[in-house]
Amino acid sequence: MVAEQNGTAAVMEEIVSSCTKCKQALAHTVVSKVKQRVAKVKCNTCGTIHRYLDPARPIKPKTPRKPAAQIAQEATYEKLLAMTASQKGLPYSLSGAFKEHDVIEHTTFGRGVVTHLLPGNKIHVAFAQGEKLLVCRR
Ligand SMILES: [Zn+2]
Repeated sequence: MVAEQNGTAAVMEEIVSSCTKCKQALAHTVVSKVKQRVAKVKCNTCGTIHRYLDPARPIKPKTPRKPAAQIAQEATYEKLLAMTASQKGLPYSLSGAFKEHDVIEHTTFGRGVVTHLLPGNKIHVAFAQGEKLLVCRR
């Protein structure tokens, strides 16, 4: 017998639950109940014991707090800052010549690290608030 509604199945009875491992609604055996509601179930397919998951509610992927691109950006900046922590920042100027991983002290953006050089005497610099395209050797 398969109970369709949460709370109607007794311990050791079968119930349909979403399986955390199989990622689909499957027959499970009720392992424990709390306050007349099914608490833990065991998947009849893979044998995993997990909390009861209502199959009517699909397993939603967790939404990240920040967009992945922003996380990557911050991680890159922090990594670069850590890598260049002992370097003295070079004051940024239009006429300055910079190379990859040079540390720049920019009057507006603060401390930044050159991530790569671009043709036309331009440099990509990672600052705390994001990457900026700056010119040099002018
Ligand atoms: Zn399973």
